[in-house]
Parts: sequence; C-alpha cells; structure tokens
Amino acid sequence: MSMPDAQDDGPVTGGGGPVLVINAGSSSLKYQLVLAGSGEALASGLVERIGLEGGHAQHTVTGTEHELEREIPDHTAAFEVLTAQFAEHGPDLAGASAPVAVGHRVVHGGARFATTVLIDEEVLGTLRDLVPLAPLHNPGNIAGIEVALQAFPDLPQVAVFDTAFHQTLPEAAHTYAVPLSWRQTFHVRRYGFHGTSHAYVSRRTAELLGRPVEDTNVVVLHLGNGASACAVAGGRSVDTSMGLTPLEGLVMGTRPGDLDPGLPAHLSRVAGMTLPEFDHALNKESGLKALAGDSDFRTVTELRAAGDAAAALAFDVVVHRLVRHLGALALVLGRLDAVTFTAGIGENSAVLRAAVLERAGLLGIELDHDANDTVAGETRISTADSRVAAFVVPTNEEWEIAREAAQLLAGQSLH
Ligand code: AMP
Repeated sequence: MSMPDAQDDGPVTGGGGPVLVINAGSSSLKYQLVLAGSGEALASGLVERIGLEGGHAQHTVTGTEHELEREIPDHTAAFEVLTAQFAEHGPDLAGASAPVAVGHRVVHGGARFATTVLIDEEVLGTLRDLVPLAPLHNPGNIAGIEVALQAFPDLPQVAVFDTAFHQTLPEAAHTYAVPLSWRQTFHVRRYGFHGTSHAYVSRRTAELLGRPVEDTNVVVLHLGNGASACAVAGGRSVDTSMGLTPLEGLVMGTRPGDLDPGLPAHLSRVAGMTLPEFDHALNKESGLKALAGDSDFRTVTELRAAGDAAAALAFDVVVHRLVRHLGALALVLGRLDAVTFTAGIGENSAVLRAAVLERAGLLGIELDHDANDTVAGETRISTADSRVAAFVVPTNEEWEIAREAAQLLAGQSLH
C-alpha cells in the first residue's frame, strides 16, 4: 500500500510523534506504532488466540517479521507479549521511539461519544455501560484499554470510536420507525461503523480531487470482511449502510446485511429457531459463507472464475446490494463528486469494482478499465472525461487513530 505524501495530510498540530495504536478484540490484539504526522509505521504486530490453545504473536519492524508461539491466557499476557516483542526487536518504547499517547480503537461509542476522548475512569465506566450495544466487540476493546492503562499508567490514552464519525447523521437518517419506548429507553437508532476508515478515505479523496474537504461529496465503499457504505458531504457523514449493529447494509463475509425484519418471527414459527440461534447465524453463518460456502471474497472470486454457480450467485448478490446502496447514497448527497473503494476487497478486487461501476453510468461515472486493472496504491479509476470521479484509496485506520489522538492532545476540535 502506498502512503500519501506527508505534506498532503494537513497539519497535525498535536505533533508528529509516535502513537501506539491498539485494536483489541476478544481473542486478538493488533497494534501499530505509528508517527501521527507522516503515518509511517515504526512497527506493527498481532497477538492472537488469546485465551485459546496455540497462542501466536507476530511483530514486524523494518520489514522483518518476528514470530512467537506461546500460550496467551488473557489480555494481560497479550500485552506482556507486546512489550516483550518491542523490547527484543525494537523500536525502544522507553527510549527514542517512546509513544506520546496510546490510541485505542473502540467499536461502539453509542450516542455518548461523538468525538475521540481521553480515557479516564468515567469514560471506562460509560464504555462498560455500552457493552449491550456491541457485545461481540466492546468487551475485547475494554480489556485492551484496561491492560494498556496498567502497562503505561503515565501515558495519555484515548478512545477512537468506529461510530463517532457518524454522529453527524441527520435525525431523519438515523431514526428507525419503531416504537418511541425502544428509541428512548433502549437507544435504538442507527449508529454506523468503520468511521475512522470513512473519515480517512473521504478526506484523502477530497485531497486527490484537489478540492476543499468542506466542498466535496463522496460515497466511500469500505469493503472488507465487514463492509459499509458511507455518504460524506463536506467532510461529514450524512448516511451510512450499517445501523444499530454492524449487521445492517451490504452483504459481508459472514453477515447478510439488509433483511426483512419479519425473518426472526418467521423462522421461529416454521423452524422453532431461538433468538440466540438466529443471532449466531446472522453474525457467523450468513453472507458469502452462506451463499458460496466460503467467507473469503478472494476464494469466492476464484470459485466463480472456475465456473462455480453458487459463487457466481454470491458475487451477483454482493454487486446488486452495492449498486442499490450506492444509488441511494448518491441521491441522499444530491451532488456526487466521487466514489471511492477501500479495504481488502475494495482495494484488491478489480473485477468487483468493474462490476459495480459498469452499472453506475446513471451517476455519471465512466470506468477507466486499464487504470482499474493496474491499481497500485491511491489510484483514479475513472476516465479523464468522467463527470464523477472514482478512486481506490487504501485505508489507514491506524494513522487516522494516531492523528485523532495527536489532535485531541493538542486541544483541537475534531471533525
Ligand atoms: P479486510 O477485512 O479489509 O482485511 O478484507 C478482507 C477481505 O478482502 C477478504 O474477503 C479477502 O478475501 C478480500 N481480499 C483480499 N485480497 C483480495 C483480492 N486480491 N481479490 C479479492 N478479494 C481480496
């Protein structure tokens, strides 16, 4: 992935120093030591199979990967592995590369957190209160914060929320037409996710267009294992495909995206299915996995190319849903300047991008097939005559989290 030029990314007045970015899940802990000013990754790594048999860690510094096999019973042990990897292979967290802050990715900030915040006991308490909104994600995020606070008690630690960028959604876009008590008492509304990615990619798109962010309208298609589309008007999220949870919207690796809300009651009647069974199936057994037998889009693409009918249908369903959301979000924006693809599938699958954009002529997008087939880093994939531009922009959530942390420390207002 190419890195945007440092001078293109706007001022980071919080200083360009190293920020240790932590993305802790229930059984894994990803990290990157990244310079907030330039986005340069000084080191990155992963500790996985926490609490499971066969713990494994990997630490990459100056292009060299260092692997480690060890049982990792809990997040405390995972953080010990992280600090040990830095101590053994560098860079020196206590010396020249000492982080100025720790930035934690937190999936769900509810309606309580509209911006990045400095973590204190009160914030931690609120995060625990929010667990019912994201039971699969927030507990791991919180465990990561707790051990990092113990390991680096003197460093400022900030929480960067996947939901925060979408707190600008107008009421009409985030309100579900459901009973008032659900909305008032149980905070049922649309929140949206992948906010750091949508923020980063939409800003880079404006920079690539050479337009002020404040006057640029973009639809970002973040297509990875999880996938969401976002309409960004003048740097603010105005609509997005995910909702209360990351289940809504596009077809994903193991999630179905949009469904008829009548489905749980129907399956309960005809199959005696319970809610936990339904929840599990929608989070883990649906999407590409259900349609093609494999949740990995690259595998699905290969199966399709080899003539597999189920994989061909899965591909068509993914494309259809994308076209539908893209059209809807373009109309929400009213004026569209660009569509930008990002994340594992968006950055790497020329065939998927072509299938979507070939059906987007109505929006004024003309695909440059050669550019699309030879994407390397940030690339314009629409023709010079195309009324609306299309891009591939590799996402960089770690850099965005580091920037947010640095800006918060500098006391700047965010978003
Ligand atoms: P992410 O969650 O952003 O890491 O994206 C993971 C998804 O990207 C998986 O479904 C991968 O199969 C998909 N992916 C990665 N590389 C390619 C590729 N060359 N072609 C198609 N899909 C890819």
